[in-house]
Amino acid sequence: MFKEKPTEWIAHDRKLRPYLWSHRILGVTGTITSLLVTAVLIFTPTGRQLEAAALTYFHSSLGQWIYFFGTLALVMKLISLPLSMASHEIEWKFGLAKQKWGSWFGDQLKTLLLGAVLGGFVLVILRLSLDWFPTYWWVFCGTFLILFSILLAQLAPVLLIPLFFKMKPMEPSPLKDRLLELCRRFKIEVKEVYHLGLGEKTEKGNAAFMGLGRTKRIVIGDTLYEKFTPDEVEAVFAHELGHQVHNDLWKGIALSAISIFVGFGVAQWLTRAYVLPRWGAEITSPFGFLLFFVTLSIVQMPLGVVQAVYSRTREWAADEFADVKTSLAKPLGEALERLTYQNFGRFFPNPVMAFLTHSHPAPGRRILRLRAPK
Ligand SMILES: [Zn+2]
Repeated sequence: MFKEKPTEWIAHDRKLRPYLWSHRILGVTGTITSLLVTAVLIFTPTGRQLEAAALTYFHSSLGQWIYFFGTLALVMKLISLPLSMASHEIEWKFGLAKQKWGSWFGDQLKTLLLGAVLGGFVLVILRLSLDWFPTYWWVFCGTFLILFSILLAQLAPVLLIPLFFKMKPMEPSPLKDRLLELCRRFKIEVKEVYHLGLGEKTEKGNAAFMGLGRTKRIVIGDTLYEKFTPDEVEAVFAHELGHQVHNDLWKGIALSAISIFVGFGVAQWLTRAYVLPRWGAEITSPFGFLLFFVTLSIVQMPLGVVQAVYSRTREWAADEFADVKTSLAKPLGEALERLTYQNFGRFFPNPVMAFLTHSHPAPGRRILRLRAPK
């Protein structure tokens, strides 16, 4: 069904090896480090000692939780900082990053503060829900997390993204008119096309729909529309429009809602039945809830694979939309090929890793399908 793999693609994938290996080594180091930290916390007295400190310093359970999990989050961040720095260094070395260290550290600090505010808020709700609904707290928390993520998706383009990138309405241009016209044709309501200033930080190109309801907008990275032909930008956009027409955002939210409820339900049952008795802990104590978190992350691994598989079916459908409904298969294939070169992606990534973790099908397969004779 597919054509032969082009030799330039194979050569590109091979040339990327040093780059990919550098990142892979960092990734594995990061995973081993967080596994070690978790093991030290739960299999040595360290976690209990941190909890004892929290109980001495704070009388209220909220204070104890914030102290306990805040300290853990900060320690994790400090341990992973050298790895993030090395990762940025690799992006520099291969000419993909353009962001200077000062601005990079600024972004790290902003991420930390944002995480503290959002994470702190979620933590308070988790703790309170254990008092409010001792048996069904996880149903309440699951519902809260889903609604909260919908709210964040809505606020992202107005509050979160502008913290890191310049976003402004795109100057009037024939390209902008074409994008809005395409939306009208498929009855997708969008008020504005935004320019996203990715170029001062990275060479990687991107385009997306962002926001929900009133905040919904088209966002095109300057790295995309300044380097690609209008046909290619329109084709990449047509793929994004396919997601909109298919309601993929809501389908994705529905699937993560299922995953959250299944994950929370199974993890809280396992924690109560086996984990807490084994450690002699209560779920309302910081250490007991840490055990729940660890159990939850194990339970969610297979659910993550299900989400990746589902996401890839939606990507195929969006490509199909660009191909059949807008006849932009050719420029989409061109754009995907250039993006894969530009973003240092691989045309044919490792099939096992791709199956388990990738949200998108291999670019090589997508391009060959778009180019296949109809
Ligand atoms: Zn997509």
